[in-house]
Amino acid sequence: MSADFQESMLRSFVPVEPESHFPLQNLPYGVFRRRSGGEARVGTAIGDYVLDLSVLEEQGLFQAAGLGQDGIFARPSLNRFMSMGRPVWQAVRATLQHLLREDVPTLRDNASLRRRALVPMSEVEMLLPVEIGDYTDFYSSREHATNVGTMFRGKDNALQPNWLWLPVGYHGRSSSIVVSGTPVRRPRGQLMPPGATQPVYGPSRLLDFELEMGFFVGTGNPLGEPIPVQEAPEHIFGFMLVNDWSARDIQKWEYVPLGPFLGKNFATSISPWVVTLEALEPFRVPGPEQDPEPLAYLRIENRWAFDIQLEVYLKTPRLEEPFRLCRTNFRYMYWNVCQQLAHHTVNGCNTRTGDLMASGTISGPTPDSYGSMLELAWRGEKPIQLPDGETRSFLQDGDSVIMTGYAQGEGYRIGFGEVEGTILPAGN
Ligand code: MN
Repeated sequence: MSADFQESMLRSFVPVEPESHFPLQNLPYGVFRRRSGGEARVGTAIGDYVLDLSVLEEQGLFQAAGLGQDGIFARPSLNRFMSMGRPVWQAVRATLQHLLREDVPTLRDNASLRRRALVPMSEVEMLLPVEIGDYTDFYSSREHATNVGTMFRGKDNALQPNWLWLPVGYHGRSSSIVVSGTPVRRPRGQLMPPGATQPVYGPSRLLDFELEMGFFVGTGNPLGEPIPVQEAPEHIFGFMLVNDWSARDIQKWEYVPLGPFLGKNFATSISPWVVTLEALEPFRVPGPEQDPEPLAYLRIENRWAFDIQLEVYLKTPRLEEPFRLCRTNFRYMYWNVCQQLAHHTVNGCNTRTGDLMASGTISGPTPDSYGSMLELAWRGEKPIQLPDGETRSFLQDGDSVIMTGYAQGEGYRIGFGEVEGTILPAGN
């Protein structure tokens, strides 16, 4: 029996449609609050329900996983749980998969426990799942780097000489990371209009999204002790969708010589559910072949890409339904997550529980698989036609960007839900 076949046999007593993002095989972690009131709690998603893990913990149901009743889940972030390491993550996942199975009566047949622990998703508000420490954004899609390089430097100099040797990245800002559903105000800043001799100050006119995925560091590394590439998976807790909002005009004027700054740090949106490495294991696949062969500290078996289908939709005030802007796949990433973490720490830089590492814009090989407006509309040269006759080269006030993604198994989906954000007009 293949591993995937065994996975597909798992069923919960909670009803789960085949297209649901949250079957028993997924069990992502998030932080939620009941709309009726109460404290923020850690939960997992199953079908159209959130399972309140703090209720199960209170009942001593995680004792088999080595957890007492210390309130690991009765708190507004995943950090404490994430800091406990992979053996605990795996044991809790095994307990949850057991308790939710269709043939296990503990929760299924206990009506009062079920009522307290299972909350319809429509009755909760999802919060930022993690108290995020440091935030790093990579630039690991070869197609994206080539597209942007071609636009700014021409086809022959598209990739910088370092690009094929190391995962390029920059330090972002965690204070402005927001959860899906949070509106994003159009930033103001310095812009250098084409042909002008001095910059002007005003609202960004070239506001864009970047389709990315990110991972949270579960357990970090001490200062001065790099994470070897082979050990990187032990430190990775789970993944989410990331929209790295970008003001291209602010970015273009400010980025020389130190890189992204105010064109990026006004907002970054993430999806609320953190999908574990365990849930994604059946979808781990070879990534693009790496040539030249990376230096020894970056060498790892080429099986650390993930087959995750990704889509971006645009909703405008006039469109009747969201319009799909692009469809791509996380597996196109040239540098994988293990290489990113190994490179990030190779100089001795420490990472900590709750650090967020984003992939960089995920673009595929074809024009309908590009992960930003900059590329989709090719710097405004090929405006995107919307079904109602409008066009877009960049985002307008009132536009919403919705990103979604899932890995498709045999009869089930490991989904990420979505990350949504709507553009508000610039402030004064
Ligand atoms: Mn980015």
